[in-house]
Amino acid sequence: MNIHEYQAKQVLKGYGAPVAQGVAITSVDEAEAAARQLPGPLYVVKSQIHAGGRGKGKFKELGPDAKGGVRLAKSIEEVVAHAKDMLGNTLVTAQTGEAGKQVNRLYIEDGADIARELYCSLLVDRSVGRVAFVISTEGGMDIEAVAHDTPEKIVTLAIDPEAGVTDADVAQIVAAYGLDGAAAEDAKSLFPALYKAFVDTDMSLLEVNPLIVMTDGHLRVLDAKVSFDGNALFRHDDIKTLRDETEEDAKEIEASKWDLAYVALDGNIGCMVNGAGLAMATMDIIKLYGKEPANFCDVGGGASKEKVAAAFKIITADPRVEGILVNIFGGIMRCDVIAEGVVAAVKEVGLQVPLVVRLEGTNAELGKKILNESGLRITAADDLDDAAQKIVAAVA
Ligand code: GDP
Ligand code: MG
Repeated sequence: MNIHEYQAKQVLKGYGAPVAQGVAITSVDEAEAAARQLPGPLYVVKSQIHAGGRGKGKFKELGPDAKGGVRLAKSIEEVVAHAKDMLGNTLVTAQTGEAGKQVNRLYIEDGADIARELYCSLLVDRSVGRVAFVISTEGGMDIEAVAHDTPEKIVTLAIDPEAGVTDADVAQIVAAYGLDGAAAEDAKSLFPALYKAFVDTDMSLLEVNPLIVMTDGHLRVLDAKVSFDGNALFRHDDIKTLRDETEEDAKEIEASKWDLAYVALDGNIGCMVNGAGLAMATMDIIKLYGKEPANFCDVGGGASKEKVAAAFKIITADPRVEGILVNIFGGIMRCDVIAEGVVAAVKEVGLQVPLVVRLEGTNAELGKKILNESGLRITAADDLDDAAQKIVAAVA
């Protein structure tokens, strides 16, 4: 689960990380009052969307010369003017895709005077099975280019889970950044705090880009991107309330209500499969025969008829879907349950596109019988290869 920058800063502040004062707003009317709460004379107006690259982003409705999604303002009037310009408009960044994202919320922040922009993130480094800091002196808006062109400028430091962030770890980070004075002093509490926030709240990613050294010598978290591990959300009721469903794919929200492993994709063949491995193989073979999957969907092991029906409805509700492939290998899952779920869903929402079904394993014959007797126009397939060829031919 992703959250907004202003929420991420709130979480980090709770762990003692230095962040600027700021106020989140959702209407232009609130802009002036928000800015008045801040010390000035420099303000920053920041689009709150679940995507990075906002500073370099462009608003669809404004011309190519208009400023991006993160803007400095030197007066309260300027804050209000930026808010008018940005709220309700669509910001396109390197991470949003061409469609962009509508800016429904702004974060008005006390502006910082920046001496240096650094990069710092925390992630789970699977190669060593530990949470690791990824740091670079080249922070700011172009970390992807740094990773590509000068990967030696990026340092990874894995943290021993027993010891946590030690003095030696902090010393190593301070040396890698070349910090001294107040910044080196701030580092002693900041890096352990970031690590504690990451572990305590089950984050899967914490990216501070940039982490800045201000002209007064202190460190500040200037931007923050946080993703939480969805599988751990059940033990963080406070974090769950930070969810902003308007930022998420409606189909994925519905799927999460049913506990379905579903990811929306850009192709036009809807897939309903049981087991993540089989789902991946199904997507691969659709691509092999020249088409693109519209989604990843794993209905899991012991899915009920209702859950199968919900999955089928989510897939058919996607306007991009021109054909559906149901590929089930019944191990724990019973093929007759899948068949009943599909029939129930089709009775409710109809079937406008070709449907190819491949059932194998437990109760496969019974499943096929249910589908045959349903009167639905279903193309049966013998195996995965046959199924993929049939659905690709059907939508061609
Ligand atoms: P992103 O483009 O989505 O990563 O948004 P950021 O929050 O990282 O902001 C983009 C850039 O705006 C930063 O790299 C800074 O250069 C600039 N910026 C953001 N906040 C401030 C601020 O308080 N003062 C100054 N001088 N620049 C800022
Ligand atoms: Mg940034």
